[in-house]
Amino acid sequence: MTREERQLREAIIAKCRWMNASGLNQGTSGNISARYKDRMLITPSATPYDSMKPEMIASMPLEGDYGAWEGPLQPSTEWRFHLDITRARPDVGAIVHTHSTYATVLAIARKPIPACHYMMAAFGGTEIRCAGYARYGTKELSDHAITALEGRNGCLLANHGMIALGANLDKAMWLAVELETIARQYYLSLALDSRVILTDEEIADTAKGFSTYGLQAPKPNKARATAKAAPRRAEKRRSSKR
Ligand code: 13P
Ligand code: ZN
Repeated sequence: MTREERQLREAIIAKCRWMNASGLNQGTSGNISARYKDRMLITPSATPYDSMKPEMIASMPLEGDYGAWEGPLQPSTEWRFHLDITRARPDVGAIVHTHSTYATVLAIARKPIPACHYMMAAFGGTEIRCAGYARYGTKELSDHAITALEGRNGCLLANHGMIALGANLDKAMWLAVELETIARQYYLSLALDSRVILTDEEIADTAKGFSTYGLQAPKPNKARATAKAAPRRAEKRRSSKR
């Protein structure tokens, strides 16, 4: 295993622990995957996140033998939707699936989330759809999820939970938190007599600004870039500061 792959496996586990510690998820529910070259790394099934080690993460090929896996433990039972989404969406580098409370409550009611908040624009449309029900771990559930995620970065799963997608782990988790937040806000707004839903135009207008808003990739550090280009000069500067 390369150092790079080990770091990605460690990052997956860190996100799993964080989602439970933050209350976004609970127990061994939920699962996380990340694209790594021509493979997908995914959490093993029913394994407590606290005792998860990088070697326990399962590795699956994106092409070829569908469902083949390597690792000491079985991959998450939801490997089908993780694999199908990763294969279908080149823009997706990581997937977070949780049973977060408010998203799940709306999914139990089979209620899609309308554009009740401008943050809806981060999900790529004017509503977060609720995928139809199918038993966990099935190809049918994966097919429902793919349909609900068309043109979107998140969806609810009927009587189950939610899925959030991102270019990388940080972005996928950022959207998972946003999805749960907007679910909570919408749920609470249902207690009021009336609510205003933003128009398609208002969401489209917000989406324009989102090309420069949201979780940003860190800008390359100028000093580090200079150090790479002219290591001796940078070294001199560093030593003179000591
Ligand atoms: P796994 O433990 O197999 O990942 O399953 C958890 C889950 O959320 C199933 O939908
Ligand atoms: Zn689940």
